[in-house]
Amino acid sequence: MAVPGDPRVVTFTSRYAAGAMTEALLGLLRCPFCGTRLDVVGRDERFDWGVLGCQCCAYPVIAGIPVVVADNVTREAMHVMEAGDRARALTTVLGLDGPQAAAFNELVSGTPTYRDLLGVLGPDAEGTYFLHRFADPTFVMVEGVMRALGAAGGFGGGALLDLCGGTGHLTHLLSALAPSSLTVLADVYFWKLWLARRFVVPGVAAVCCDANQPLPFAPETFSATLLCDAYPYIWQRRMLASEMIRASTPDGAIVMPHLHSSLGENYAAGMSLTPAAYQGLFAAHGPRLLDDTALLDQAIDGGAIDLGATVTPEMLGDAPTLTLLASPRTGIFRRWPLPPLPPMRGELRVNPLYRVERRGAGSVLTLHFPTEEYDDEFGECRRYLPESLTIPGDASGAIDPAAAGVDVGALRRRKVLIDVPRGYL
Ligand SMILES: [Zn+2]
Repeated sequence: MAVPGDPRVVTFTSRYAAGAMTEALLGLLRCPFCGTRLDVVGRDERFDWGVLGCQCCAYPVIAGIPVVVADNVTREAMHVMEAGDRARALTTVLGLDGPQAAAFNELVSGTPTYRDLLGVLGPDAEGTYFLHRFADPTFVMVEGVMRALGAAGGFGGGALLDLCGGTGHLTHLLSALAPSSLTVLADVYFWKLWLARRFVVPGVAAVCCDANQPLPFAPETFSATLLCDAYPYIWQRRMLASEMIRASTPDGAIVMPHLHSSLGENYAAGMSLTPAAYQGLFAAHGPRLLDDTALLDQAIDGGAIDLGATVTPEMLGDAPTLTLLASPRTGIFRRWPLPPLPPMRGELRVNPLYRVERRGAGSVLTLHFPTEEYDDEFGECRRYLPESLTIPGDASGAIDPAAAGVDVGALRRRKVLIDVPRGYL
């Protein structure tokens, strides 16, 4: 790390070419520890690689991702990068060494898919979860809530934040719903951000940071902040709540779907709290609670989402999860008819939960869960995914929507067909 007075900490005021790390993102960043702006100490032409400095630390930019974390791994990666070995700097922050690093380097020398790379970077239940993330019941519910928030004008005019956003599936959704906004993906795991930028939301503004520390963002930056299924895994929940409010515009929306309640049963519950405790932590920002069961029902039905059907902690009882929606803008808390799904941006593929078998002139799709655990946790997807169906033509690869011979809109709404980024499967 650089120290105060380090000659490397020089402020550059020149205009930067639109590179991998953008000036727009740089303008939002603040040091988590001293709160000052991050200036460019050095960078390559595209801004894929560089060093940022505040008044107390230096932070590397690796593969277009600022790593605003002060730990030994980041420090080592920065030294390796400054010594000129970018490949090793990358595998260092990806957490790979020895055979894993070799397997990774061999894969990326070809044209791997997101699925291929998950096999190296996230080869456990989390990898399975990520691969199928575009169509699991929590995603379906959040998609409904965010489409309703968009209909409510709830994205405002500022930047959007997908906090603890993993490999960016919900960032993909946000950037489709609000294409003119700057959408920022933040996570503590560099490998997830790297996969997000390479495949899921190519080139997205991504920041590696630890939600157990103050957030590395300027005050009043985000007009909508989404934090899904991660808050109970953060120890510093009180600080994170105040940080999310600080980084939000005064009338911004803070959306926390699928919060695990300590009064209910959950898989990997984390350090969950009661619904009343969650509400209390966001008291300064107009928090209201919604019933996840009702939200999922409405999202599957596809007609409207009632953001006005707020509930008390007592009404939630021992429900396993809930959604917290906080915003001083009380006008968003009503029923919103859902707008159409955003237009296709990637390629149309059969949901990878289906086995696809060519038969005659068609393809037979049969639902098949990757593991028993996946079935246990996400089996509710059977509510919208039929056990089996036949569609015309060869459905084993990308499908031409114009020549599919099926109601693409209806099958997209049911998640039988999904719009995935190229190179995902
Ligand atoms: Zn600092």
